[in-house]
Amino acid sequence: MTIVELAKRCGESIATVQHIIVNVGEKIDSEFDPLSIDIAELVAMEIGVNVCRLHSDDGAHVLGRSPVVTVMGHVDHGKTSLLDALRQTSLAAKEAGGITQHLGAFVVGMQSGASITFLDTPGHAAFSAMRARGAAVTDIVVLVVAADDGVMPQTLEAMSHAKAGNVPIVVAINKCDKPDANPERVKVQLAAEGLLLEEMGGDVQVVEVSAINEVGLDKLEDALLLQAELMDLKARVDGPAQAYVVEARLDKGRGPLATAIVKAGTLVCGQHVVVGAEWGRIRSIRDMARKVIAEARPAMPIEIEGLKGLPMAGDDIVVVESEERARMLSEGRKKKFEKDRLTKLEEERPKASEEEEEEDETKPERVEVPLIVKADVQGTVQAVTDAVKNLNSSQVFLKVIHAGVGPVSQSDIDMAQACGACIVGFNVRDPPSSIALAATQAKVKIKLHRVIYHLLEDIGNFIVEKAPGTLETQVAGEAQVLNIFELKGRSKSKGDDVKIAGCRVIDGRVTKSSTLRLLRSGEVVFEGSCASLKREKQDVEAVGKGNDCGLVIKDCFDFQVGDVIQCLVQVNRKPKFVSSESGAVRIEC
Ligand code: GDP
Repeated sequence: MTIVELAKRCGESIATVQHIIVNVGEKIDSEFDPLSIDIAELVAMEIGVNVCRLHSDDGAHVLGRSPVVTVMGHVDHGKTSLLDALRQTSLAAKEAGGITQHLGAFVVGMQSGASITFLDTPGHAAFSAMRARGAAVTDIVVLVVAADDGVMPQTLEAMSHAKAGNVPIVVAINKCDKPDANPERVKVQLAAEGLLLEEMGGDVQVVEVSAINEVGLDKLEDALLLQAELMDLKARVDGPAQAYVVEARLDKGRGPLATAIVKAGTLVCGQHVVVGAEWGRIRSIRDMARKVIAEARPAMPIEIEGLKGLPMAGDDIVVVESEERARMLSEGRKKKFEKDRLTKLEEERPKASEEEEEEDETKPERVEVPLIVKADVQGTVQAVTDAVKNLNSSQVFLKVIHAGVGPVSQSDIDMAQACGACIVGFNVRDPPSSIALAATQAKVKIKLHRVIYHLLEDIGNFIVEKAPGTLETQVAGEAQVLNIFELKGRSKSKGDDVKIAGCRVIDGRVTKSSTLRLLRSGEVVFEGSCASLKREKQDVEAVGKGNDCGLVIKDCFDFQVGDVIQCLVQVNRKPKFVSSESGAVRIEC
């Protein structure tokens, strides 16, 4: 792209674009010279335009590649067990004599020479977080459904995720070893949800497995390869790599490590890369068996070392020509991300204009609840943070003041204490007793969970507790006027004339401290406070259903027999935590 074209696309003048280019230290000869993609991105970011790198395979050497598979399904249906079982059959496990480690991805090799790459983070959070960041890494989704439990909310959620991402599904009916397993019922349920199963004339393959007994795994792998064959997956092999981070962690000795999957091209050791907003020079590439390799090709999961900071799951990896470029691009991206983050924060804040405030004075103030999020890997940190934000409502604003990888630490407790925050940990180790004690002493709440739904439910209930609620008028009781008594000519000391309504409470309770409303033929004719409530000449605080009483409403002299008197009370209605069939959650105010 030339400067002229870039200026046109960004809606800026050529002079502005030229000015930015000079500012970043690039030389310009002519506005018709082509710009490198890195400089074009920098300029666009500086102007405030969002950039997405598109990669073209035109004219490149393309070859078939392995499929990349994600396992999804309802909680407890056996996603982790299935991944564990499959990992045992992986190349890394074979090489390491069965000892494997969770690194975010693994490869299973077939006798035919074909292979399948599995993303080793089960669940929807990781899948959607990656997709939300433009990292469409998954080719096929394995939908795990327990044969003894059938289709559940998160099964449907997984189906919608796959559909939204246009990713085909292979169904694994798990726990077929169980005596109450009923795979046929699962198939009927799936078909009823619109999944076109192969045996019913559709194209979605179904495999019956038992993750625990390692039965049917080979059939599942065959089904995945068949699906991949139908998709005719290909990738460019030559040229600079385009890759995505699937997981990142900090190693004490080696620094930031990222597990990545190459989407196209070849990643070579020694190259300078920009990863999301971080950068680095690739010091080493290892395959999933931890063997050092010189380069990585498409669909290959690798671990890269040499980054300056910890990237996030879903970050793109682009190769740039020099360290200076990498530094510049990373700085540019950081600046843009921070700007976007602040804009988003501003948008999320309650926009209470003066008019709105005047209009509804009864509306409670929005309470800010500070949170610290800790999770096992960067991808989940992001996913949990995003999921938690969905619980924001007009009454409670969850403010994530810090989010990070690793177990809850003393510094988290210190920060939580300083800000009055609550700490949520997802998939992290229980803190040692010293930290737990420190938290108790500092009165800091720590909520640890391993199931995202449970975490959201817990925070949802916490929000409900913190929410100020809205004051609502409710009818606590109703009385009917049966007689009217007048007290006339009372002395000054005893006050003016009064009219007493002789009533019977027909519903609920009538209390003295409440407001009373007089209704005639359903119409409100008077509303005022209760001046006196008596039962058999005794002053009382409340009268229950079925009892007679004498009642005086302050300044009301207009009772008629047959009128209804309602007793009104103010109740504080708290918001509600609601979860839908699909597993989606929200706070209803
Ligand atoms: P996830 O929440 O989907 O990751 O489910 P897990 O893999 O943690 O499994 C949930 C429970 O089901 C665990 O107690 C497993 O031992 C059990 N489980 C998983 N797969 C099977 C299976 O094939 N057969 C039987 N009988 N139990 C299984």
